[in-house]
Order: sequence, then structure tokens, then C-alpha cells
Amino acid sequence: MDTVGELVPPARILLGPGPSCVHPRVLKALATPLVGHLDPEFVRLMEETKTLLRFVFQTNNTLTLPISGTGSAGMETCLVNLLEPGDEVVVGVNGVFGTRMVDIVERCGGQPVIIEAPWGNVFTPDQIQAALTRCRRPKVVALVHAETSTGAWQPLQDIAPVVHNAGAVLLVDAVTSLAGCPLEVDAWGIDVCYSGTQKCLSCPPGLAPITLNHAALDLIRKRKTKVHSWYLDLTMIEKYWGEERVYHHTAPISMNYALREALRLVQEEGLEARFRRHQRNHLALAAGLTALGIPLAAQEGHRLWMLNSVRIPEGVDDARVRRQLLEQYNIEIGAGLGPLRGKVWRIGLMGESSTRSNVLLLLSALEDILRMEGYRCTPGAGVAAAQAVYAGT
Ligand SMILES: *Cc1c(COP(=O)(O)O)cnc(C)c1O
Repeated sequence: MDTVGELVPPARILLGPGPSCVHPRVLKALATPLVGHLDPEFVRLMEETKTLLRFVFQTNNTLTLPISGTGSAGMETCLVNLLEPGDEVVVGVNGVFGTRMVDIVERCGGQPVIIEAPWGNVFTPDQIQAALTRCRRPKVVALVHAETSTGAWQPLQDIAPVVHNAGAVLLVDAVTSLAGCPLEVDAWGIDVCYSGTQKCLSCPPGLAPITLNHAALDLIRKRKTKVHSWYLDLTMIEKYWGEERVYHHTAPISMNYALREALRLVQEEGLEARFRRHQRNHLALAAGLTALGIPLAAQEGHRLWMLNSVRIPEGVDDARVRRQLLEQYNIEIGAGLGPLRGKVWRIGLMGESSTRSNVLLLLSALEDILRMEGYRCTPGAGVAAAQAVYAGT
């Protein structure tokens, strides 16, 4: 067997749908010495992490903690703990992640009641109301706040009353939205919410912050059957993350160091300032792309700040452009998924990746590569339009 060489990853600029760029302080935290998962120092870190997570989720929920696993583990934890066979769940499907929730609901033996919107569009409270009236005893309404596969931004403020009136709880996928745009778990009446670390928290992938309120916990306490997943069973996990400190599984120590540091960075910047940064860089990128003749794909008025889904111009080779961006500029952007494959690019400006220099670099790189593809646009138009947004003109 040949000797395997040292790992030397290229210094990519991650402007795709996640992971996003990681701050050096977070990388440094990953390289610090391990302690045991019941060490008093680690117990202190757990408490600090829960407090910081309550701050980013804007909640007072006691049960707020990081699940060991990526965002999908957060999704599965919430559903597998809430659902028992036969339970009805209204799921909004307007992209990849609503589709994934339906799959998990079915695996839990639940009955998905699917509402659909075209990919790139969002749901109105009326659509959710209509779906709820089709149910006998709806238990959960599950929606994706930021659909990373399409760039659509689901408004949530007026939805909880509709859900609660029907006797159900509201479950929200905030994997991409958390720490990138406003998300107010308590004020908006969200009962269950999960996220991931590698999007706007700018941590490596590997943990899934979740939060559940009393209404959701009551449903779990009233279960007649055991939670179908041993690993994701919150009734056991909460005993490790709570006062009892009962061993369940070995917490991924280094990942928890990284998350704590990433959350500290969010706290230092402040949520409001962080959201404004994401908004400003999105507006500049959108202006630049529009000036290059590349339109945004998601529903007008419902476009995410941290994930820009844009139409690939006619006659341009999707894969070749992405490869050129990677090879010549070290920039990663995302391809379209499902029905949007080959039709859109997904340009992420998440967390540490959302910077003015990344926006300007991407616009000039894209213009350069598109011109090599024979695409015609005014030289420098993209960067100029973005600069005008930054200058406030
Ligand atoms: C990325 C993402 C997920 C899945 O997270 P993984 O970390 O890839 O498991 C779920 N929902 C949304 C909206 C996402 O963007």
C-alpha cells in the first residue's frame, strides 16, 4: 500500500449552500485538548452552550441543546420524538427539505398531509388553514423557514395562531435561517425548531441545535410508545444535558468546543448587526447579478439573504462554470437540486462567507468566466452595481 500523504485542503471560498467558511477562532477551538464528556469543564461548556443557543433561537425554552449529528439529525430528532404511528402531520413541500420531512414522517409511521407550492414559492396562512381542515386530528405542522434548495423565505409570524387553533404544534426547519435572518422562536409561537451548525453559524457540520417548548414536551411525555430511535430519544438525551448528567452517548467534544466559539462570535457581533450584514451583502450581490443579466429565481419579496438561487443564462454550461470558479478562483457555489438541476446556481452568503469582498470577488469571477463561455454582458457592470449598493447610492 502506498503511503498516504498529509492532508492539505485547498483554501476554498465557500459560497455554496453550506458548509460556509469557518472563522479561525472556531478552527482553533477544534484543535484544543479534549476533556471527558462528564468533566466539570465540559459540563460548564454545556451550560454556556445552552444559554447561547437560547439567545440565537430567541427563546427561554429549557430544552435547548445541540443534537450530535448534522441538520438532518435535528429534523429527525424533532419528528421521531413527537410522532407516534397514525399521527397526522401537515408538511409544506416546496423544495428538497420539505420532501425530506415527508420521508421521515412516513418512517415514523405518521400520516403526512402534504401541501405543495412551486419550488421557489412560499405558503400563505390560508393554505395551511385549508390543509388543517382536511385533517381529523392534526398533531404537527412542519415548515421550512429558509428553503436552501430554492432560496425561498417562508414568512412565519402569522402561522402559529392558525396551527394552535387547530390543536397542533408548529415545527420549523431553521437550518439555514438561524443566525442569518430574524428568527424569534418564542415571539412567533414556534413550538419546535431545529438547525445545523454549518450554515449561518459558520461552524463545521456535525451538530444540530434544537429547541422545544412545553407544549411539544407534553406531547413527548404523553407518548404511549417508545421513541423509535434510541440515539435521538430526547427523554434520554435531556438527562445528559440536564441536571442528572446521565451518560447516553459520548458527546462529540471538539464539535461542541467549535459550536461554543461560533456562538460567541455571533454574540459579539450581535444578532441585529449580523442580520443587517447578511441583508446588505445579499442586496449587493442581487444588484450585481441583475446588472450582469442574471435574474434571481425565488419568488419576489421572499428571497433569502443567505442563499441566492439564480437562473443560469441560456447557452451557458452549468458544470463547466462551477468547475472554472473552483479551479481558477477557489470559489465553490452550489448546483440546482431536483427540478432546478441545470436551471439554477445556488450562491450562499452564510455567516463568515457573507462579506463584501466575497460578493465583489464572485461578481468579477463570474463575469470573467461567463465571458469565456461566450456570454455577453457589460464589462464591470456587476461589480459597479454592487459597489453602488455598498455606497448607498
Ligand atoms: C442543510 C439543510 C438541512 C440538512 O442539514 P444537513 O446538515 O445537511 O444534514 C435541512 N434543512 C435545510 C433547510 C437545510 O438547508
